[in-house]
Amino acid sequence: MEDVIIIGSGCAGLTAAIYAARANLNPLVVTGNEFGGQIATTTEVENYPGFPNGLQGPELTEQMKLQAERFGARLEYDAVVEVDLTHKPIAVKTYSATYETKSLIVASGATPRKLGVPGELEFTGRGVSYCATCDGFFFKGKELLVVGGGDSALQEGLFLTKFASRVTVVHRRDQLRAGPALIDKAQCNEKMSFLWNKVVTHINGDGAVKNVVLQDTVTGDRSEAKVDGVFVYIGHLPNTALFQGQLEMDHEGYLIVDPFLHTRVPGVFAAGEAHDKHFRQAIVSAGFGCMAALETEKYLASLD
Ligand code: NAP
Repeated sequence: MEDVIIIGSGCAGLTAAIYAARANLNPLVVTGNEFGGQIATTTEVENYPGFPNGLQGPELTEQMKLQAERFGARLEYDAVVEVDLTHKPIAVKTYSATYETKSLIVASGATPRKLGVPGELEFTGRGVSYCATCDGFFFKGKELLVVGGGDSALQEGLFLTKFASRVTVVHRRDQLRAGPALIDKAQCNEKMSFLWNKVVTHINGDGAVKNVVLQDTVTGDRSEAKVDGVFVYIGHLPNTALFQGQLEMDHEGYLIVDPFLHTRVPGVFAAGEAHDKHFRQAIVSAGFGCMAALETEKYLASLD
């Protein structure tokens, strides 16, 4: 019987693990299919306090992992396939084991939103990507399209200019959502350009991406653009399907929690982008992880 299982190994999950481990709860972290969550797929992290020169996303999560393990957290590189919150103890089934636990911290995060256009699925891994850190290297000297107008699109677009000959950001409006610091950097980068008021409606190719069809959101006009790769950064969806029918969620699937991160099920807490659709910052998720672990500690003490 576990005291606490933490689902997810992003900033929320690993911070919860550090705090729970230091409270002698011997937490078990089920990492999910990809260790480190979203921050591990990003490049330069320049706004995480304590790192004035910035650091790479994967390095940040690796440091958090080492810190959690130092205090006794255990990591299982596995993914949860089923949970039963209807009884105590809570049952958590992964691909390789079934666990029983007194409490649960859901830090399952969020996943990149897909465009949902013809060709996207077919060419994923063959020109369509959601991760510049993972795939940027394969596009040396190539022409790339980045879809989105937020911080991720600009940050990852800038990273891609290290490899690509040209990076064109396609945005559905004529004003970026990204913050001014990134806008300045992007506008000063001679390899970057912008296509305003356009959406991608088709991704075409032959074994690999060759071109995209763009539609003007103002005039409705269609055009074709020759590209070698499409990187999609249009926001996220919470990873909460496992809890459908068991935990309260909003219409987009974000978990509903009280200000202390309690769900309606006693002993089940949420932390990070599984419930936070407002801030979506690594440091905020880390803060939520801390809060969830402190509340878990109190909950477990109340059982004695
Ligand atoms: P985001 O801020 O939600 O931006 C998503 C972008 O995609 C928006 O520009 C949106 O257009 C566009 N979009 C959404 N659906 C679309 C569709 N179906 N077709 C075309 N375009 C679509 O997401 P994000 O950039 O991933 O950022 C998420 C959070 O992480 C934000 O809070 C951001 O500040 C933070 N973040 C911060 C940093 C940093 O500080 N360095 C880096 C990365 C991310 P509209 O603008 O028209 O809605």
